[in-house]
Amino acid sequence: MSERDDIRFDTEFDPRWGEPVEVRAGVARLTARNAGPMTFKGTNTYLLGETRLVVIDPGPADDGHFEALQRAIGARPVEAILLTHRHRDHTGLVDRLRRSTRAPVLAAPPRAVAPTARSGATDAPPDDELLVDRYLADAETLATPVGTLEVVATPGHTVDHLAFALAGPGILFSGDHVMAWSTTVVAPPEGSMAAFMASIERLLARETDRIYLPGHGGPVTRPKPFLRALRTHRRMREAGILERVRAGDGSVAEIVAALYRSLDPQLRGAAALSVLAHLEALCQAGLVRTDSEGAPRVDGLFWPA
Ligand SMILES: [Zn+2]
Repeated sequence: MSERDDIRFDTEFDPRWGEPVEVRAGVARLTARNAGPMTFKGTNTYLLGETRLVVIDPGPADDGHFEALQRAIGARPVEAILLTHRHRDHTGLVDRLRRSTRAPVLAAPPRAVAPTARSGATDAPPDDELLVDRYLADAETLATPVGTLEVVATPGHTVDHLAFALAGPGILFSGDHVMAWSTTVVAPPEGSMAAFMASIERLLARETDRIYLPGHGGPVTRPKPFLRALRTHRRMREAGILERVRAGDGSVAEIVAALYRSLDPQLRGAAALSVLAHLEALCQAGLVRTDSEGAPRVDGLFWPA
């Protein structure tokens, strides 16, 4: 969002909207035309296979994308529809695709956050009504037309976030957890900074993933240095927030004003939630205290522990 100089983000990406782009043998990317400050050039749908397919993230409820998806699928049977997480820019077409292909929808169990606790400040609210045929478990393996796909639970961006690892070619479909163009939004209550950081460590410990194909933008071609840079970036941001609290900034608004000086006003809500996510992690670590009993609130008061 700002202070990006510590990570090299790749914002050169040609989405080739509506056109399936073969990114690896048997793996095509189809980018929806829902570009925006949260979605970059649009949501990526991936099609795995040649004669039979598995689809990852059907994408937003957009007629043009659905038509492009149907054209890309053609007469080939779809064996399964996998979801990285329940954000509408990834799930909007699930029901239509499920009806047109009769493929089962597989996703993590939904997160246990009461709908009323939702902030609604991101432009991709969670899809609570989503019909899922079977819940996926961490480390479960799925036989796909291009090889065995391993489920890698990566909560943080959302509680239900999954990545999918294709062992042979060393591809990790990283969803919105790790993307080349930007840091992900971690917005409480559905997002958790502590979980996000643990999921970064989890990916750092994996040896088989050579390239990440994310839910938005182009591939992450050097995952390990990128993950380490992301970790450093978040730690620096957290240290900066702790410094502000220790300097006397008692509210999220004050911290946002101090740390995100030249921020696009459209992203201010997301920045506030990101600061809140860090404050929540700092409260969990016992470094910051807050006036609310349960989870810290975006309009709450904060002081050093
Ligand atoms: Zn998302």
